[in-house]
Amino acid sequence: MLVVMNVDATQEQVDAVSAAIREMGYEPHAMPGAQRTAVCVTGNKGPVGRDRLAQLPGVRDIISVSKPYKLVSLETKTERTRIDVRGRIIGGDELTVIAGPCSVESEDRTMAIAERVRSLGVVFFRGGAYKPRTSPYAFQGLEEEGLRILAKVRDEHDLRIVTEVLSEETLEAVAEVADVLQIGARNMQNTALLKKVGRCDKPVLIKRGASATVEELLMAGEYVMSGGNHRVIFCERGIRTFGDHVRNTLDVSAIAAVKAMSHLPILGDPSHAAGKRHLVPPLARAAVAAGADGLLMEVHTDPATAWSDGAQTLSIEEFQMLLEELKRYREAFTPAPAAT
Ligand code: PEP
Ligand code: MN
Repeated sequence: MLVVMNVDATQEQVDAVSAAIREMGYEPHAMPGAQRTAVCVTGNKGPVGRDRLAQLPGVRDIISVSKPYKLVSLETKTERTRIDVRGRIIGGDELTVIAGPCSVESEDRTMAIAERVRSLGVVFFRGGAYKPRTSPYAFQGLEEEGLRILAKVRDEHDLRIVTEVLSEETLEAVAEVADVLQIGARNMQNTALLKKVGRCDKPVLIKRGASATVEELLMAGEYVMSGGNHRVIFCERGIRTFGDHVRNTLDVSAIAAVKAMSHLPILGDPSHAAGKRHLVPPLARAAVAAGADGLLMEVHTDPATAWSDGAQTLSIEEFQMLLEELKRYREAFTPAPAAT
C-alpha cells in the first residue's frame, strides 16, 4: 500500500505517517520525489488500517499496490529514478556507458585500458577482481590485488568503478573501492547477499540471472530497496534459450518491460549476451533502441590476450566507433518520460 502525501506536506507530517505505520506493526519506506513524497507500506499481510492513515495531516491519497514488487514499482514512484554516482547520473538524459575489461589484469594493462577508455569521455570503468567462472580451473580474478588496482584506476583517472561483489565475506573490501556494486547473474537470487548490499550506501547494479523472469529480477531489486538502499540499477545481459548462435539471448523485451514496470534505470550488456565481438555493436544498438539507460561493455587494448572473455571484448578502436554511433542512436530513441 502507498500513502501519497500532499505536494506541500512537511517532513514532520511524513514522519508522523511513518510512525503510525510502524505502530501498526508494518514497515514504512519514504519515497521522496521532485513532485511529492509517498510512503510505501510493506510487511502487511492484508489491508492496512487505511482510515487511520487517511486522516493524518498532509495525506492526499491511499493507493493499493497490486504487484508483489512494491518499492521498485512505477506504481509507487511515477518519476524516473536518477542515480548519482559521484556527480554522474545513471538514469538521466545521457546514455550511461560502463566499459573496461572482463577481469582486472596486471596493473600496467589495467591502467592502460583505463587511460584509453577515459580519453574517449567514458566515466564508468568496469572490471572484475572476483570472477564467477564456470570452471574452477579458470582464472578466478586477482582478488585483493585487483581491488588495489581498481582503487588506483579510480584515483588516477577520475573513473567511477563498477565491480562485482561475489560473496558476503568480501563485501566490505569491495565496497571500499567500488562506486557501484555489481551483483552478477549467478548471484541475482542470492538473497543473503542482496540483503547485505541493501544495507550499504553504494549503488547496486543487479544483472538478470540467465534463467530469471523479469518479475524475479524486479524482486531482487525489491530485496535491496527494502533494506533501505534505494540506489538500484538493473542490467539485462542475456538469458538461456535454445539458441546457440550466441552465448546468451539478449532479451530486449525485458528492457522495454522493466521501463514499463519500474522507475529504476536498466542497462543492457551486449558483451555477455553476444559472446562474440562482431555481434556486440548490433546488440548494443538494439538495447538503446529498446530504451536502455545505458550499456555495460567489455573493452580491452588487446582483446586477443585478455585473461577472460576475450572473444566478446571490443578493441579500443571498435569501441570508439560504436560510441560515436550510439550517441546518434540515443538521440533517435530518447525514451518518453514516464507519466506522472
Ligand atoms: C561480468 O559482467 O563480468 C559478468 C560476470 O557478467 P554476468 O554476471 O552477467 O555473467
Ligand atoms: Mn566477462
